[in-house]
Amino acid sequence: MKLARFSVDGQTRLGKVVGDQIVDISSAMPAAGDSMRLLLEHLDGARAAIAAIDGPWLPLASVTLEAPIADPRKYLAIGMNYQSHVDEAAAAGVTAPQTQIWFNKQVTCINGPFADVDVPKVGPDKVDYEAEMGVVIGKRCRHVARDDARSVIAGYLVCNDVTARDWQFRSPTFTLGKSFDTHGPIGPWITTDDEIADPHALTMTLELNGEERQRATTGDMIYDIYDQIAYLSQVMTLEPGDLIATGTPAGVGIAGNRFMKHGDVVRVAIEGLGAIENRFVNEA
Ligand code: MN
Repeated sequence: MKLARFSVDGQTRLGKVVGDQIVDISSAMPAAGDSMRLLLEHLDGARAAIAAIDGPWLPLASVTLEAPIADPRKYLAIGMNYQSHVDEAAAAGVTAPQTQIWFNKQVTCINGPFADVDVPKVGPDKVDYEAEMGVVIGKRCRHVARDDARSVIAGYLVCNDVTARDWQFRSPTFTLGKSFDTHGPIGPWITTDDEIADPHALTMTLELNGEERQRATTGDMIYDIYDQIAYLSQVMTLEPGDLIATGTPAGVGIAGNRFMKHGDVVRVAIEGLGAIENRFVNEA
């Protein structure tokens, strides 16, 4: 299933996307309201009811797609997880890591799949994009073995791990540089795990103003999704709705010293998961 959040007539609802249409699924679990996190907590019990909903359908083009999850408890991201990106970073003087490198994006950065992204007014002049596949956790879990990791995944989505490079490198942690409001566009919906034969065989591309800047397959990850879940869950409980951004390949703006300007449009697409497209605008 493709699970979405959408707004129409000023009201936000949970929905199911089929082709170029969407249907309201709130009747399957009214208590969830418009919270995808709450729906995911009970998805096993609601799945049959959601599958049975067959109208009234709305054209996707007539609604506004919102971030599929607006209220995750965590948004974690791994750094330097594609060799091509490690190589371009090494050329810029960044040392290759010897282990998984994790940081937070504060959840207030989450933004819609087609919403505008700020070029912040406080001075970042090095705002950058990073195309990434996102994993959405579906089961509360701890100490997950690599072989069991897939069973805790609800689904996948497209992420742009927008980064203010000047803030990122100003301190030992990436927290501020990764967490500006609007710098977490995600979507366009969650494609549930059962629809994806192999999450490590998906082509991912990023276009800046229609020109391709990043291209990779998710199979190029150094630490794959299952390694990531095993590693993280040694430390912390993962919960339904938690977001994990799984790393970006070569081609980010900093490698070519080309950063985001007012009016730039960035499109990230992943095979089977759809695409998100965001315009960068100077913060009002
Ligand atoms: Mn990233």
